[in-house]
Amino acid sequence: MLDLTVMPEQRRRAAAAARGWMPEEQGLALYDAAREQADRGLVLEIGSYCGKSAVYLASGAAETGGVVVAIDHHRGSSEHQPGEYTHDPDLFDPVTGGIDTLPGFRATIAEAGLEDHVVPVVGPSATVATWWRSPLAMLLIDGSHHLQDAVADFNGWAHWVMPGGLLAIHDIYPAPRERWQEGPHHIYRLALSGDFSPYRAVDTLRILRRAEHA
Ligand code: MG
Repeated sequence: MLDLTVMPEQRRRAAAAARGWMPEEQGLALYDAAREQADRGLVLEIGSYCGKSAVYLASGAAETGGVVVAIDHHRGSSEHQPGEYTHDPDLFDPVTGGIDTLPGFRATIAEAGLEDHVVPVVGPSATVATWWRSPLAMLLIDGSHHLQDAVADFNGWAHWVMPGGLLAIHDIYPAPRERWQEGPHHIYRLALSGDFSPYRAVDTLRILRRAEHA
């Protein structure tokens, strides 16, 4: 059957206007995947920054009344800190001398009209993983790309993806040359060596499906 559903224009504009590194083509793949999965259970993302990917995921989830849990400590990754190459001075936080992405995140979600469909959890993903107990219909891992952090996110969270559920990993480069490219690539290989199989690929976004018998 031809599927004519498209992401609502207001939300698409809010996502495009948000700070972040999720190109629209990849974001729309997240939207499609979340829309397909959200009536089965929760959608969860690790690494929200200013809410760009959360808008794509939540727009899809909202179509079936679903919810996205958005985990981030909102203090930025190492490359976002003052003096680093992706630092945004607008996000500087004089209290900590670092950055604070939570106000920007909340503004993005409000702008998109998605506050009823996004639940931010403010804290380190590893800390949240210690008490988390709910299966996930879809998981996006896009937090710190350092090898040990990406592996911790995979080990702490991928097992919560329900059989037949989806795991998306952002920033996969075929042959990592920079250190920041190593983490996503490594956990993508880990997923493939476990019970996840390729489902969809759009540029550096990979979506995998967990086996039904997992
Ligand atoms: Mg990313």
